[in-house]
Amino acid sequence: MKEMWQTIKEYFGDGYVPGSAPFRYNVHCCEMKRPAKKSDNIRRGMYLDEEAMPLFTAMGDAYAPPCTCQDMQALIRHIDEFVETFPGSHPDDYAITSDKGDTDIDQVSLYTMRDSICWWVQWGGAHHPSHYWKEMYVGFATLPDDVQVPPRDFMDGTFRYLGYTWDECREGLLAEGISPEHVKFAEMCLCRQAICQYLEKVDPGLRPLLMSKTLLMTQYRVFTANTLGCGSFLLHTEGIPFLGLEDDVLEVAAVSHCLSLDTAKEAIGVLKGEKTETVAGDRAQLKRELRWVYLRCLEYLDKKPTAHLLRFASAGLLYVPMMDRYHERVRGNIRFPITEAMARILAPFVKGQATPNGGSEKGHLSEKVVSEQTNGSVSLVF
Ligand SMILES: [Zn+2]
Repeated sequence: MKEMWQTIKEYFGDGYVPGSAPFRYNVHCCEMKRPAKKSDNIRRGMYLDEEAMPLFTAMGDAYAPPCTCQDMQALIRHIDEFVETFPGSHPDDYAITSDKGDTDIDQVSLYTMRDSICWWVQWGGAHHPSHYWKEMYVGFATLPDDVQVPPRDFMDGTFRYLGYTWDECREGLLAEGISPEHVKFAEMCLCRQAICQYLEKVDPGLRPLLMSKTLLMTQYRVFTANTLGCGSFLLHTEGIPFLGLEDDVLEVAAVSHCLSLDTAKEAIGVLKGEKTETVAGDRAQLKRELRWVYLRCLEYLDKKPTAHLLRFASAGLLYVPMMDRYHERVRGNIRFPITEAMARILAPFVKGQATPNGGSEKGHLSEKVVSEQTNGSVSLVF
């Protein structure tokens, strides 16, 4: 993990806080100002006016957070020390962390693929074979939340997601016409995510450094969600050129995406207890601060040519009430069954079931999880 940490440090570099690599941020949210004139931009996918927010009990007013951004330096130093002494493995490696009673990693993987396709279509991405590997990338980016996979295993192919190694996904992305520079960016984002997800599970010293610091917690939380890498592929489907590490619009959209997600999760009561729970502490005050950052991010995006990213930036408000992933939490952390119709959509994402171009090579997972019925339909076996 030490080498991986060093690699992403060199790749991402510092942001506006000196010594913040690899937790680079270009835009300093604390300095954002409310624009003098209100926008009438109709391209917004979802926007709640600041004046109207108090009408929603789930929301309320907004309040500027204190700037905690310089604390990033201490956070980086803490992680530097942790990776220096980390023995390379942990007793809970490969534990399932979904908290939904899952007992099988392949089964958890299938559920994360369900969730990933749900997100992809809610963001405005088309569910189409030409986006197979981009949707698969979202799946890779979801799994570390639900299983404690050692970052090295995750990236070097020791771990297989639905039968695929990360290398296979990377090759697939290149074959889908994503530029090598863009795929490299996505790979580094995934690597950073794998490390951040792992650290929040194995390093008890991390959370106290983030607690009650709205900006810092949000910034770390954006890395565990990897909305940056996933959002970059959404832009590609829109034909928008890849701008790399300098893309401030993508960055701000990635931040506000997580804020909309946390706001919606809090509204339905499933945010409490999460490891990077953005409002842990003085909830009422921290929620005000979250809303302030969210509003300033939306206003920032609204002025940009790629303002249609606003849909991605507010997507949490739309998809949380719609997705099984969150309803399973509301119902007491259970699993909904995979229906036959769902299985038909998911089966092509299991290696060996059906490749994107219609092949049907057999993979190790296929016989275990998915069985083909004689009538040609596909169902999942648990
Ligand atoms: Zn700040």
